[in-house]
Amino acid sequence: MADPSNPADDETPDTQMARLILSLRSQGVTDPKVLNVIETTPRPVFTQELFRERAFEDSALPIACGQTISQPFVVGLMTQALKIDRRDRVLEIGTGSGYQTTILSRLARLVYTVERYRTLLRDAEARFKDLGLTNVITRFGDGGEGWPEQAPFDKIMVTAAAPDEPKALLKQLKPGGVLVAPVGKGSVQSLRRYTGDGQGGFVVEDLIEVRFVPLLDGVAREL
Ligand code: SAH
Repeated sequence: MADPSNPADDETPDTQMARLILSLRSQGVTDPKVLNVIETTPRPVFTQELFRERAFEDSALPIACGQTISQPFVVGLMTQALKIDRRDRVLEIGTGSGYQTTILSRLARLVYTVERYRTLLRDAEARFKDLGLTNVITRFGDGGEGWPEQAPFDKIMVTAAAPDEPKALLKQLKPGGVLVAPVGKGSVQSLRRYTGDGQGGFVVEDLIEVRFVPLLDGVAREL
C-alpha cells in the first residue's frame, strides 16, 4: 500500500530514475555517457525481489551470498574515473549482481568479469542474456589473480575491497591503463585510481571514502 509519508511511493519509475540522476550529478557524476547508461539500465532487474521497490534509491542493497549491489553514486563515480573508451577491453573483479558489469559493457568493447560465487555468477549470466549483452565474458574464479590469459587490459575495475595495493592486477594493465579499486583493510576504504605512466609506474589518486565487501582469497566453497 502507498505510504503518504514516502514521496517516492506514488512516483513512476521514470520519475524516480530522474531523481536519482539529478542526485548523482549533484555529487559529481557529470560524464553524460556515464549518466546516460545509468539512466537506461534497469537497476530493479539486478536487485532481489524484496528490495525491488528500493532499486532507484541511491544506496547499496543486499544480494544473495551476503554480498551487495553497489550504490548508484559509487557505480557512477567509479565508471567515470575509469575513463572508458569505446575500444577498451575492461576487466572487472566481483561480478555480484552484474549491474556494474552491464554499465561497463555498454561503454566498452569487451568486459571480462570474475566472481567467486557460482550462484551470483549464474544469476548475473542469466541477466546478461535477458538484456541481450553480447560483449561480456564471465569466469568463476579468484579475481585477485586477475585473468592472466586475457591480459593485458586497457582498464580494470575492482568492486570488492583490496587490503593493499592490488599488485597482481596492476601487472595485467596495459601501459597507460587505468585501474580503480577500493583499497584498505577496515570497513571504510579509499577509492583509489592508478593511472599507468607508460614507464611501469603509476600515478595514484585517492578519490573518495567507500564501504565495500572485502576481496576474499580463493573461490567460495558454498554455492
Ligand atoms: N559489482 C557488483 C558488486 C558486488 S559486491 C554489483 O554491481 O553488483 C562484490 C563482489 O565481489 C561479490 O559478489 C563478491 O563475491 C565478489 N568477490 C570478492 N572477492 C572476490 C574474488 N577474490 N574474486 C572474485 N570475486 C570476488
